[in-house]
Amino acid sequence: MDKVIITAALTGSRTTKAHNPAVPYTPQEIAEDAVACWQAGAAVVHIHVRDPQTGAPSMDLALFREVVERIRARCDVVLNLTTSGLHLEGPDVLERRLAPVTLHPDLCSLDIGSVNFRDRVFLNPPEWGEVAARRMREHGVKPEIEVFDVGHVAQALDLIARGLVEEPPYFQLCMGVPWGIPATPENLLFLRSQLPPGARWSVLGVGRAQWTMVALGILLGGHVRVGFEDNVYLERGVLAASNAQMVEKAVRLVRDLGREVASVDEARAILGLPARPLAQAAPTATP
Ligand code: ZN
Repeated sequence: MDKVIITAALTGSRTTKAHNPAVPYTPQEIAEDAVACWQAGAAVVHIHVRDPQTGAPSMDLALFREVVERIRARCDVVLNLTTSGLHLEGPDVLERRLAPVTLHPDLCSLDIGSVNFRDRVFLNPPEWGEVAARRMREHGVKPEIEVFDVGHVAQALDLIARGLVEEPPYFQLCMGVPWGIPATPENLLFLRSQLPPGARWSVLGVGRAQWTMVALGILLGGHVRVGFEDNVYLERGVLAASNAQMVEKAVRLVRDLGREVASVDEARAILGLPARPLAQAAPTATP
């Protein structure tokens, strides 16, 4: 069984400092959290950016660039930039969503299908998946295919069958987003059963489902995601002090359940990513 890749989803687009004061907003805060999570054992950081003043979700390329440069200057963690653009509207929304691809991160999330969230439609029209997959390939970026329901896997299989996704495909199984697929053990087993042979997969659970899905993902041979994008609590009624504290808990769970945590280099090998030399300074610590 592969070692476990821990992804830290640092800020997302919906969690605010009102939910937890430790949610990072500014590029500096996001980058500091990324480095702290890497030091704690995360091999991948999943990045959204916020308006530094208001905390509102943003797809401003300059903010993404600042975060990427600050992280790259300090460590070699695998960078995963969002293309969700959940808050965007307008005729050019697909292009604005794809702007982070031009920064050549290792991974970009690719939300393959549409789904009703509680208060809005998360719109990923049929042409989006193909446009996004082609653009990512042009820039040497691997898609992290985010699925929120079973039919989304079928859409991903179509992209894979048409040769638009490099092997091995990498899925993020997003469980418990209202009203995506509920975060139950049965649903996770079924979702996993629908993935193609050789696929790599990670699981996230939203809210209180985070830790149960992380534990199940570890037991079932998958990879896991934690962080403020999905949940602000370390345990029932106890706010997490930081993203890194959640990574530390995930590391403990991995070890307690008899698996090992993947280093950055091991994560790159598992996901089929090229080894990337550090742009600037050498890392000061290894997880
Ligand atoms: Zn995200």
